[in-house]
Amino acid sequence: IDSKLPDVGTTIFTRMSVLAQQYGAVNLGQGFPDFDCDPLLLERMQSALLHGHNQYAPMAGVPALREEISRQIASLYGRTYDAATEITITAGATQAIHTAISILVQPGDEVILFEPAYDSYDPSIRLNGGVPVRVRLHAPDYRPDWEAVRAALSSRTRAIIINTPHNPTARLWTAQDMQTLAELIKDTNVVVISDEVYEHMIFDGARHESVARHPALAARAFVISSFGKAFHVTGWKIAYCCAPLDLMREFQKAHQFIVFCTHAPSQYALADYLPQGAHLQLASFYQRKRDLFLNAVADCGLQWLPSQGSFFVSASFAHLEKQGDWPALAFAEWLTREVGVACIPLSSFYHDGFDEKVVRFCFAKKDETLQEAASRLQRLK
Ligand code: PMP
Ligand code: GLN
Repeated sequence: IDSKLPDVGTTIFTRMSVLAQQYGAVNLGQGFPDFDCDPLLLERMQSALLHGHNQYAPMAGVPALREEISRQIASLYGRTYDAATEITITAGATQAIHTAISILVQPGDEVILFEPAYDSYDPSIRLNGGVPVRVRLHAPDYRPDWEAVRAALSSRTRAIIINTPHNPTARLWTAQDMQTLAELIKDTNVVVISDEVYEHMIFDGARHESVARHPALAARAFVISSFGKAFHVTGWKIAYCCAPLDLMREFQKAHQFIVFCTHAPSQYALADYLPQGAHLQLASFYQRKRDLFLNAVADCGLQWLPSQGSFFVSASFAHLEKQGDWPALAFAEWLTREVGVACIPLSSFYHDGFDEKVVRFCFAKKDETLQEAASRLQRLK
């Protein structure tokens, strides 16, 4: 057939996981925990399964879960989304992002995104006939260049996708960034798609700037988060999307035909589990893992970049005598094969493979896994 995505192959996450397995490498590539979730959540899941929650959930999601989400967002960020009409439970954040794009984009419409970008944004835009307009973030700070954003805006701009904490760079947007964005799009119809899947993993006392905190932006935004990240259950693929009524109405029109509804038992389990507040411990949980890993690899020869949030940390290898001029993909493959630690090249997050010789490591791993990876990375010296 005439492919709509002729340039797309298997994702880098899958490829590096396969390579890690093949070479017995410690897999710090694909972002997922190598430990299990809270046993209490599993009990809640078991109970949901045994109590007959095994048929279709309501289209927008189990009401009790939507109510919990609404309460949580109100208490954390001060905005109240109406649980009945402004929240939808989705099959992962990926589906929420895809659905939002699908209801916004008409053929030829432009969507601004920041590169390095999570890999699903670009294909979702193009599958819907849209045109990705890419604004580059640069190592080592990866700060948005607001002049470049201004220049990227046009009469065809339909949406802008933002992501804080940011995958892969582990950078946070500030309140000032949100303010600047709000001013830039004030007199346009641009809709914000805010990918906040790492919202609870914020380090060193910083604050998560959810779009839900910023009324001018929230009024024109889809705010998306994922339970996969918050509760160490990436395989459940349960996430949610919040938006003002006019946007959510359109979102649900598409949602009901893209997936209709999502996995029912896990929604009941999560509705019961959410009030425990386990997500509020996530920042300190992951900050400790970040520090454990960074202390153990501080002198391994890579140049570590700051990790302000998410469960990733990146490093530059540009200064290495032997490997410094290799493409990041070649370096990541070599590190997997020869050093025994898998990572992800940041060049894979740029559509044209732009390469600043930086690779990403995931520290959502058991302490022993991080220690084993660190001791292998000492071989770089
Ligand atoms: N956005 C970002 C920035 C991510 O890192 C991920 C997953 N790693 C997703 C979206 C997708 O989340 P989900 O697994 O809930 O689809
Ligand atoms: N989001 C995860 C990452 O960045 C991977 C998810 C996936 O494999 N699609 O590593």
